[in-house]
Amino acid sequence: MSYNPQPLPYSQLTGISAKTLEVHHDKLYVGYVTKRNEIEQALTTADRSAANGTYSAFGELKRQESFAADAMILHEAYFNVLGGDGKPAGELVTQIEKDFGSLDAWIADFKACGLVARGWVVLAYDLNDGRLHNYVCDAHNQGGIWGAMPVIVLDTYEHAYMMDYGSDRKSYIETYMSQINWNEANRVFSKVAKFN
Ligand code: FE
Repeated sequence: MSYNPQPLPYSQLTGISAKTLEVHHDKLYVGYVTKRNEIEQALTTADRSAANGTYSAFGELKRQESFAADAMILHEAYFNVLGGDGKPAGELVTQIEKDFGSLDAWIADFKACGLVARGWVVLAYDLNDGRLHNYVCDAHNQGGIWGAMPVIVLDTYEHAYMMDYGSDRKSYIETYMSQINWNEANRVFSKVAKFN
């Protein structure tokens, strides 16, 4: 099987330029999907008999498999949760209030995580304890918690904001928060919460 890049669910955002969206979605994200397909294809014929912990073609394919897969999955979650009015609503807010004490406490924590992360901030519903957590990833395939399902995903790689905001990541995070699509976030949350 092969993976198909998903289209953007909107044509434009406010405060994130068309150029940033084009580079981010059409080039970087599509590139990850292409590489994931390439890796999966190469794995079908990779030489398992030469597997080695220091270097082997098979080993490198296995390492980059998770890098490309997580890059694809997290970017799709990021693009899909944007394009809304940023007004928190729904069952997800009730769960946030339960697990973080208040909506404001979650917002403060999520924004602080955004200044910390070298790659991603993920509000995830963790099936291990049935709670929401803000997790931070420093690379696509580092920092994820197994069994934790991404609900609201923020890309903090510089490519997400540098063209529009320079080094002002804080303003980019404000722009992001103001356009979260809470309908989509609630749709994802209701889907993943069923597994618990
Ligand atoms: Fe990105």
